[in-house]
Parts: sequence; C-alpha cells; structure tokens
Amino acid sequence: PYDVLVVGGGPAGASAAIYAARKGIRTGIVAERFGGQVLDTLSIENFISVKHTEGPKFAASLEEHVKEYNIDVMNLQRAKRLEKKEFIEIELENGAVLKGKTVILSTGARWRNIGVPGEAEFKNKGVAYCPHCDGPLFAGKDVAVVGGGNSGVEAAIDLANIVNHVTVLEYNAELKADSVLQDRLKSLPNVTVLTNARTQEITGTDKVNGISYIDLQTGEEKHVELSGVFVQIGLVPNTDWLGDTVERNKFGEIVIDNRGATNIPGVFAAGDCTNSPYKQIIISMGSGATASLSAFDHLIRSEVP
Ligand code: FAD
Repeated sequence: PYDVLVVGGGPAGASAAIYAARKGIRTGIVAERFGGQVLDTLSIENFISVKHTEGPKFAASLEEHVKEYNIDVMNLQRAKRLEKKEFIEIELENGAVLKGKTVILSTGARWRNIGVPGEAEFKNKGVAYCPHCDGPLFAGKDVAVVGGGNSGVEAAIDLANIVNHVTVLEYNAELKADSVLQDRLKSLPNVTVLTNARTQEITGTDKVNGISYIDLQTGEEKHVELSGVFVQIGLVPNTDWLGDTVERNKFGEIVIDNRGATNIPGVFAAGDCTNSPYKQIIISMGSGATASLSAFDHLIRSEVP
C-alpha cells in the first residue's frame, strides 16, 4: 500500500503529495484531471509572491513540482469508491483498487452553471465565478451578480466597493441571503436588486456587453448593459462518489477538523471539497500541507517501523 494516497490533483492534492514525499514515504496521487480548476482560470493575481500568472501555466508548474519527487502520478483516473478495510481502499472507474495506509481526499469542487447562451462562450471574457479573484478586473465598470443567496449577496457587497454598479438577479420572489447581508446590500447606493428575474442570455461580441432576463411578473424580456457577470448559484463539491463512507455536511462538503482529519481514522481531506470556509488556491494548498502532515503524524503513531 501507499503510505499516503492522495485523491485529486489540484492545488490541494499537489501540495499534500509534495509534503508527504518530502517525508520519504511512499506517496501516490490519482487525479481525474491533474491541475484541477486552475486549468480553467485565465489570470491569477492573488497567489501571494507571484504577481501575475495564468491558470494553465500555474497547473503546469504544479505538475513539474510534483514530478521533482518520487510520487506515483496516476492522471486521468477517476475514483469511484472508498472503503476502509485493513487499509483504505480506493476503487477507480477502470476497476483497479489502490490501497493506502492513509488517504487524503482533495477532489475539489465545481461552480454550478446557469446554462444560458453566452455563459460558456464568454467564460473568462466577462463571465466570472470568483469575486475575490476577478473583482478587480471590473474596477469602475458595471456588473451583474446572478444569484441572491448568501454567496451572491456577499459577492455583490464585495463588488460594490470596487465596480461602478452592481445588478443582482434573483430568480425567486425574494433574496435568500441572511437578513443582515440583505440589509447591508440595501444600504449600498450603487446596487440594484431584481427579483423574479430569470436570466435568459449573456450577450456580447468578443466579450460580455450585457445580460438579458425575463421579468417573471410581467413576462417581459429586459436587457441590462454591463461588462461582467458573476455567477453565484452554488459551488458543488466533487464528493458524491463517497456516498455515506465519509461524513459530509448538507452542502456535500467533507467535514474536517483543524488538522484535516475526517471521521474515518487515516482519512484526511483538504481544499475545496471540504467545509473549509473560503475556496482559494492559497487556502487549498495550505490545507493540503496540513492534511499531509496530519497523515504523517497518524502513520508514526499507528505503526512500529
Ligand atoms: P480542484 O482545483 O478542484 O482540484 C480537484 C482535483 O480533483 C482535480 O484534479 C480533479 O480532476 C480531481 N478529481 C475530482 N473528482 C475526482 C475523482 N472522483 N477521482 C479522482 N480525481 C478527482 N482561486 C484563487 O486563489 N485565485 C484565482 O484567481 C482563482 N480563479 C478561479 C477562476 C475560476 C474560473 C475557477 C473555477 C476557480 C478559481 N479559483 C481561484 C479557485 C481555485 O481554482 C480553487 O480554490 C482551487 O483550485 C481548489 O483546489 P483543490 O485542489 O481543492 O480543488
């Protein structure tokens, strides 16, 4: 078996694998798509000490760094089942079963899409998912936030500080966010809230120039001119495959303690697939390191060499 078997090859998994390998223990990493979400990111400007980089370049350097070490990289392999027997077993979609004395789950998450015309086409050309990441790109411009839950309203409050104007579009008759956030939002002079608004299309030429929606009360189609659309209708963790084996919260996020430990001894988790509060590269990498050091700690306490 591996001493540490990492499932997921994004920033969290890469960090966990490197920290494990540096302890001189047998380390493997299995990933459906090595690099993870950063492969879909255009520019990264908040990875501290790197002023600017691009997602695919960042992913390539993650891989390069991992390959500096004696780590078994199993790319393009999807895990479909976890079971704790003598060791922790990970079954892959291709039928193979990998064993680990410890396992670190770092399968990340994906943003829920609206699924309207223009969304995919203008991704990174005005369609954005992360206000912490891309907010400053829209300084002084007009943007929309689609989604009136906590993350949408938090994004709108955040963006209102940076951009000229924010339009919030909520499908339902009311915002779903906590009332303290709604009060804060209403106090801002440069925010318009549209409820009963069903997003129809994100318009543009080479980049976004507006958003069309149906006013569900009148049935009328309306259009707002703007430069950016932040989609905030949910971040879905890639954890369905775990079923009931590992404890997850109501959002499907793996529940971990401050050492990255799950409810199963020897199984740790890190990054966007967990209940850690903010989902960022730098945070995922930190939690990958934490989980890995915890896995090492678990190994030295649970076996005689
Ligand atoms: P992920 O990056 O999601 O990696 C998950 C890994 O697990 C992947 O390798 C995936 O293929 C694999 N996997 C999933 N399921 C399975 C399975 N069943 N079996 C095997 N492998 C599996 N953050 C920033 O800090 N700055 C930014 O500028 C920024 N911009 C972003 C822009 C976009 C468009 C997006 C989508 C995200 C952005 N983020 C940004 C967020 C950042 O990318 C994530 O927080 C970070 O990638 C999370 O790392 P992770 O390793 O936890 O998960």
